[in-house]
Amino acid sequence: MSKSTKTNINKISVITLGCAKNLVDSERFSGLLQANGFEFTDANNADAMVINTCGFIKSAKEENVQVILEAAEQRRKGKLKKLIVTGCLSERYNKELSSQIPNVDFFLGINSDKKILKILSGDQKYTLTGERMLFTPKHYAYLKISEGCNQKCSFCAIPLMRGKHITEPEDKLVKEARGLAERGTKELVLIAQDSTYYGKDVSKKQSLAVLLSKLSEIEQLEWIRLMYAYPRQFPLDILDVIAEHPKLCNYIDMPLQHASDSVLRSMKRGIKIRKIESLLDTIREKIPNVTLRSTFIVGYPNETDADFRLLMDFIERQQLDRVGVFTYSHEEGTSAYPLGDPIPEKIKEERRAELMLLQQQISLKKNKNKIGNTLKVMVDGSNENGYFGRSEQDAPDVDNLIYFNSEHEHKPGDFVKVTITNAEEYDLFGTLMAN
Ligand code: SF4
Repeated sequence: MSKSTKTNINKISVITLGCAKNLVDSERFSGLLQANGFEFTDANNADAMVINTCGFIKSAKEENVQVILEAAEQRRKGKLKKLIVTGCLSERYNKELSSQIPNVDFFLGINSDKKILKILSGDQKYTLTGERMLFTPKHYAYLKISEGCNQKCSFCAIPLMRGKHITEPEDKLVKEARGLAERGTKELVLIAQDSTYYGKDVSKKQSLAVLLSKLSEIEQLEWIRLMYAYPRQFPLDILDVIAEHPKLCNYIDMPLQHASDSVLRSMKRGIKIRKIESLLDTIREKIPNVTLRSTFIVGYPNETDADFRLLMDFIERQQLDRVGVFTYSHEEGTSAYPLGDPIPEKIKEERRAELMLLQQQISLKKNKNKIGNTLKVMVDGSNENGYFGRSEQDAPDVDNLIYFNSEHEHKPGDFVKVTITNAEEYDLFGTLMAN
């Protein structure tokens, strides 16, 4: 029996593009649709499709428009009865998209859960409460602790799409986390645009430390991981909480973007490299075996060769564990836009490659030092080569994997001990230890 007599729509396909925050948004509105009797399927068998888009940087925007055009073609052919586009790209370029791309029924902004439900339901009777669906394997899940951002990074278009920082109430997050843990989540990954700003819009005081310790009381959770910290006004009290609670991973992801003061100033990061390095020292003092992840931008308009050398020296000096590098994307509406985009793509790519090569060597040396160590590994899955999983040092989807063989059956979410026998730049290989 189809869910909505009026719209004759029963099966939905949800396509999520972009970051884990977008994934949580899709999980939340899909939970609402599921609670109202809609079923989920792949694009070929769907009556309607919802595309949750990303509008962050040029390459992502191009990829997203391609996905929308392909779906619009399905709509034109009548394969889809309804096509809804939502999320960051649709929030940022609503007018342009609506006027340039036909055969899309609705271009909606972010957080359009109710509108999506109303459009697909057609008739009035529907409930507005629904348990969040999970699109990640169920042994790990993301917890989005806030929306938007109050920082003013000159290169970043996110505040244009996501708006001001809004903290998710603590009790609501703890309830959501408990629900996930009861459904089998072992690893909770805390995400936001700026996770360390948590609570500051509500009480002028950052309260991430309180949230972390509350979450660490949830019995079924094994790992709680913090991502997207911001270096300026970093809440040092979270370091004590992380050091104290074994469930809180000794892991901090903190995008730093650059290491030259003139570039950091132009980027409006509000912090100098000396302060950043003393913060990293403090983090390492408080959490001795901490894993530090960061991301950097090369090719920013005022980045000179000398600035890039400063960044290379910083990476060499700091020996971070996990590093991602983006090339500068010239985004209209950002405060850096008037600076133009003077650095050729070729130079940007060369700098990115040079920085990644340096980090590869650092990562290989660190990985080799782990040979002989026995690590607690959470199983993520298996393939023809055996099992693979991650240690506390590796976030899902972005970090390294540990491969091992075993005669035993292991399910995703199981914890095993693996002794490392071999290492590559990023991944490790080992043998299962008897528990
Ligand atoms: S912290 Fe900076 S880079 Fe991150 S979302 Fe906010 S403005 Fe963008």
